[in-house]
Amino acid sequence: MTNNSGNKSEPYEEVENWPPYTYTEYPDVTTENIHAFTEFLTTENEVGLKMELQPWVSFCDSKCTFCYFPNENFSRSIMRPYVRALKKELEMYAKTSYIQTSIFDEVVLGGGSPTVLDADQLVEILTFCEENFNLTNDVMVKVAGCTHNLTVEKLKAISDFANRLDARCTQIDIGVQSFDNKIRKVLNIVDSAEDASRIIKTVREMGIYACIDLMYNLPGETMETVKKDVETAMGLEVEGIDYYALSIQPDTPLQKQVESGKVVNLADSETEKKMYLEAYEMFQNGGYKPTGHSRFSYVQEHFTESCVAGWPWAGQLTTGSGCFMGYLGPFSYVNIEPARDYIDFVSKGAFPIAKLSLDSKEDTMRKVMTRLYVRQPVDKIKFKQEFGIIPEEAFPGAIERLVKKGLLSVENSQIRVTEKGDLWRYNIVWEFCEK
Ligand code: SF4
Repeated sequence: MTNNSGNKSEPYEEVENWPPYTYTEYPDVTTENIHAFTEFLTTENEVGLKMELQPWVSFCDSKCTFCYFPNENFSRSIMRPYVRALKKELEMYAKTSYIQTSIFDEVVLGGGSPTVLDADQLVEILTFCEENFNLTNDVMVKVAGCTHNLTVEKLKAISDFANRLDARCTQIDIGVQSFDNKIRKVLNIVDSAEDASRIIKTVREMGIYACIDLMYNLPGETMETVKKDVETAMGLEVEGIDYYALSIQPDTPLQKQVESGKVVNLADSETEKKMYLEAYEMFQNGGYKPTGHSRFSYVQEHFTESCVAGWPWAGQLTTGSGCFMGYLGPFSYVNIEPARDYIDFVSKGAFPIAKLSLDSKEDTMRKVMTRLYVRQPVDKIKFKQEFGIIPEEAFPGAIERLVKKGLLSVENSQIRVTEKGDLWRYNIVWEFCEK
């Protein structure tokens, strides 16, 4: 958030938009920590929770100015060796004891923009996952995509694959960001709002869930554009809307444009907060309920997903150049990029890890409290079984203080964020973690 105006009647000066324990804080890989990681992979997975398998296609054929995900320029010549390396990395994990004793109920092609691949390549990666990992009978198949490179042929190939597996649902995660053509142009989003709406309708007509990213407090955003975006998204009846404030990340073109004055700066934190609250009310009135990090949805699958419900116990196997969301047991990792370096590294038969973090028991306790920002309860009994103390003893005074402020509730051993606390859920979890 920018230009904090402050508001003393609120629990915090401004709304925090970035959670603790993200890839930005991981230390570089060392001989010691990679050894500990590979040793860990020789053990069996005894957690007993379903996991997410997430291969990344870290390429894109466009350059949105805000994008901080790995999105190297797509070129046909690199895709063959990249897909080969991606499969090899997946295979290296698949051969470990930890992964052989793990069960996955979500396969997610992430990135980047996997839909830069052609239909055959998409199915090739998905089929490789099917053949090498323990997938549940009701697995969810999700593919991240961009409206300008999604075609009926690709959608049909994904849907046929999922249907053959009898998938619980097939979903395309679509980065829309805004339906306002002026804002889209500022962000260098290549197609128009009308084009985006058209492809979303096609996705849904094919029986595939459409889950879209929508951002607010974009350059030039007003309350009017906020309302129009939410109305348009709900009018399209998309199954899920990941709704979050734009956060300008270092080294993005947008950061430079805002710094140089070429692009107007974002609205202040008070205005940003009002935008969220307006949208929140519209979602609630439209039948969309909050779930996960930032989602509003009306489909049951989004309220029971393992990737959310199992955080931070379950694990997420993420692979591919520059991927940064992987975590297995107490380890979290970021992969090497760019793709050329990644391909070289994998060809030598080594895990292509650039940053690797190992949680202490105390880190894990803090991380469990971050369930609150993904709108999941913290179970005091499970916490005590795991750590020998209850959260109130681990974090003296913190929970009581937050309950007093009306931001948390404690009932039947479950600590939850209240409706009032929802807006402040990132601030709440920072109370349990060191900045
Ligand atoms: S289309 Fe998606 S992956 Fe590509 S640059 Fe834009 S936000 Fe990033």
